[in-house]
Amino acid sequence: MPVGTQATVKAMTPGDLHAAGAQMILGNTYHLNLRPTAERIARLGGLHRFMAWDGPILTDSGGFQVFSLADLRRVDDDGVTFTSHLDGSTHRLTPERAMEIQALLGSDIAMAFDQLVDPALPRVQVAEAMERTHRWAARSLATRGRPEQAVFGIIQGGVDTELRLASVSAISALPFDGIAVGGLSVGESKAEMAATLDTVADALADDPRPRYLMGVGSPVDFFTAVERGIDLFDCVLPTRVARTGQVWTDAGRLNLRNAAVQDDSEPIDAGCACEACRNHSRAYLAHLFRARELLAYRLATVHNVTWTLALLRRLRGSLLDGSFTELRAGIVQAFRRDVDVSGADACDE
Ligand SMILES: [Zn+2]
Repeated sequence: MPVGTQATVKAMTPGDLHAAGAQMILGNTYHLNLRPTAERIARLGGLHRFMAWDGPILTDSGGFQVFSLADLRRVDDDGVTFTSHLDGSTHRLTPERAMEIQALLGSDIAMAFDQLVDPALPRVQVAEAMERTHRWAARSLATRGRPEQAVFGIIQGGVDTELRLASVSAISALPFDGIAVGGLSVGESKAEMAATLDTVADALADDPRPRYLMGVGSPVDFFTAVERGIDLFDCVLPTRVARTGQVWTDAGRLNLRNAAVQDDSEPIDAGCACEACRNHSRAYLAHLFRARELLAYRLATVHNVTWTLALLRRLRGSLLDGSFTELRAGIVQAFRRDVDVSGADACDE
């Protein structure tokens, strides 16, 4: 899912998203409720009509953004009080309000409200947030709005095996439509992420519901996660790095701001079918970035989203024809310098 935090996947129109092969996008409860507000979007016909996207939308519950506010929030058993990053005003999110906002937005998949914590915190704090997440999961389900809106639960528990297992058991026992793995890609190591996904994958082995790994989306991470049974991803990485001139290709990451690219008449990636690669050279993109022309951001974004979604289609195909290991080896080799690219805050705008 390309991320449309502010009711737009930055620099892309809905037509661009369809052309890129996007099947579903993500909208953001925290940002949209502060501005323009969920009530206004509801009055204007819901999020699909507001942003003119006719495909499915998943909305997050706001838990991740509230976590990112650090010193601007206060958590209690009932919910979270926080200060708006826009104007300093005070707001409150509870499981009930997070579900109400998502019902007003009219998304197709709503996320339960959870408490995310830094996995490096003392175990007792990680456990406390996890238990609160379980209570909030039940409250989120109890207030689900429209019956046609699916609701996914979120597994927490940091990188502690015992806590993760407890969380899988608590969340999967509830009648959610899908199961999300939260609390990863927040500063843990790649090995810790893989080990945590191993734990979750084993514990969910007989559960038929779709599995969503939240906030992960670097090329190599897709392989780590798909190998462990993950079906769905979201991340701002492809769009955010594009705006800095970093484009992803089968040969790895290419920086369009490098001097050498100014004379390169080849497309970004000869195998990519996007508008940028069909019509323009790397040299032209390099010029647009140096001249700070707006088209640079759009073309680079269109490329990265198209290439990323094509990679996932190839990944899916590789599972069917047995070439998964070969495809992964090529991508790992191409992106070997980028293995740690998606740590910390990589997936929050
Ligand atoms: Zn392209």
